[in-house]
Amino acid sequence: MYSTMQDVPLTVSRILAHGSTVHGKAEVLTWTGEGDPHRRTYAEVGTRAAQLAHALRDELGVVGDERVATLMWNNAEHLEAYLAVPSMGAVLHTLNLRLPAEQLTWIVAHAADRVVLVNGTLLPLLAPLLPQLPTVEHLVVAGPGDRSVLEGAAVRVHDYEELLAGRAGSYDWPEVDERQAAALCYTSGTTGDPKGVVYSHRSLYLHSMQVNNAESFALTSRDIALPVVPMFHVNAWGLAHAAFMAGTSLLMPDRFLQPAPLAEMIARIRPTIGAAVPTIWQGLLGELDANKRDVSSLSTVIIGGSACPPALMRGFEERHGVRVVHAWGMTETSPLGCVAHPPGGLSAEEEWEYRISQGRFPASVEARLSGPAGERLPWDGESAGELEVRGPWIAGSYYGGAAGEPFKPDDKFSADGWLKTGDVGTITPDGFLHLTDRAKDVIKSGGEWISSVELENALMAHPEVAEAAVVAVPDEKWGERPLATVVLKEGSTADFTVLREFLATKIAKWQLPERWTVVPAVPKTSVGKFDKKVLRKQYAEGELD
Ligand code: ADP
Repeated sequence: MYSTMQDVPLTVSRILAHGSTVHGKAEVLTWTGEGDPHRRTYAEVGTRAAQLAHALRDELGVVGDERVATLMWNNAEHLEAYLAVPSMGAVLHTLNLRLPAEQLTWIVAHAADRVVLVNGTLLPLLAPLLPQLPTVEHLVVAGPGDRSVLEGAAVRVHDYEELLAGRAGSYDWPEVDERQAAALCYTSGTTGDPKGVVYSHRSLYLHSMQVNNAESFALTSRDIALPVVPMFHVNAWGLAHAAFMAGTSLLMPDRFLQPAPLAEMIARIRPTIGAAVPTIWQGLLGELDANKRDVSSLSTVIIGGSACPPALMRGFEERHGVRVVHAWGMTETSPLGCVAHPPGGLSAEEEWEYRISQGRFPASVEARLSGPAGERLPWDGESAGELEVRGPWIAGSYYGGAAGEPFKPDDKFSADGWLKTGDVGTITPDGFLHLTDRAKDVIKSGGEWISSVELENALMAHPEVAEAAVVAVPDEKWGERPLATVVLKEGSTADFTVLREFLATKIAKWQLPERWTVVPAVPKTSVGKFDKKVLRKQYAEGELD
């Protein structure tokens, strides 16, 4: 029997139409570094998205499912691209501006980007790469920045505002198939070449609804969200589309991602929800501890992207009245996998056990654990295995390039099509994920596994430790042993004996590191996570003794 329901495609153009009318008064505020932020209503964003689509089609000849790349910070123009490009049927390709040049050029060629929307402040980064970007024909430059670095470049250069000026403020958005590509985002290529994850209209729409769910980020039209998580990585955690759908105003930090301006914009604009990786919040917490500001407008700060140290969560809550919510996801999962809201009926102290987990799976993200021989492991909160997931916004393959078929590497997809996350952990009977590590970061010591994350969290709970990263290093007797790399807070006199004794109160004795090193900063990846690959290399080359 068929259902009697209408079959309306779930498309980005519907999010755009809804947000720019029903929530036309909501605003996107872009921080400019001086004075008041730049304000634009969602109604204006809707008009400008239509103008951008006209310009891309009529002036730059963008047709069909062509890619339109962005090399931009979080700002109003990037939001316009997030909405306009998929709505016209083209594919938004967000370029990660922190990737090494070889990866960026590889990705642009692989995606066959012909048009790049770029912030003027990023031209010094892009201009020298242009000779290695033969597919690129048009640059559309938005915002401040010296355009003279483009002199002599073999591309057509357009000014974003001039390109939009005078064009029609409405667009007859095509009715695209909801399974069509809407956006393309490459993983950071920590192993091998970067891999392209292609989001569909349907996956973005459903994912936005999930982001807005009360068990997730719970965005409403009464909120102002501060996505510090970049729009150039991991689909901005879904916040751009979800906010436009819910009518949540957005405070966009642009390029002002340092602790001091972040603290200032929070104190002045009073956002209610913030989202970023732990290292960003760690920096902000340090700033706020040193120079207190009123950040109490933030009812929720979402932390994900790597394990959030419990000390960071407690620090925000106890010293600044901000509740931290831990979440897990990856580029391949759009990225929302699970969010750590505790069940009801618990005391505040009992809640912590749930809150420090990576979160609880929602209905649309099915999860299972796989043992070393591929066997299924139970959800008993104890059996640790590789997490595999499937669902309507989980990748089932990677983009094969213009000429290639989508591909499914064996280490990334199971034979029956589940995504292998590369993350190792346990799941409780009521669906809470506790990650112990990334498979490649686990320390295998004498047949036992040591969780690098557990050691890091324990170390970062020491009041004089600013950051700590633990990696496996080769050991003759045990195979591997942990190396603790520590950044001490200014003025700290703690030495390794003190730190080791502190750890011994929290961690089994056999897991305690024998090797220690103090560094001025832990190296970070392009998206601000601890770069353990670099640490392992530095150790191998004798730089960390
Ligand atoms: P990459 O870090 O490889 O560039 P992603 O940004 O897609 O790419 O990262 C996804 C990975 O980040 C996950 O597979 C997991 O290892 C890690 N991660 C994300 N959220 C968390 C979390 N809350 N706790 C621990 N690890 C996390």
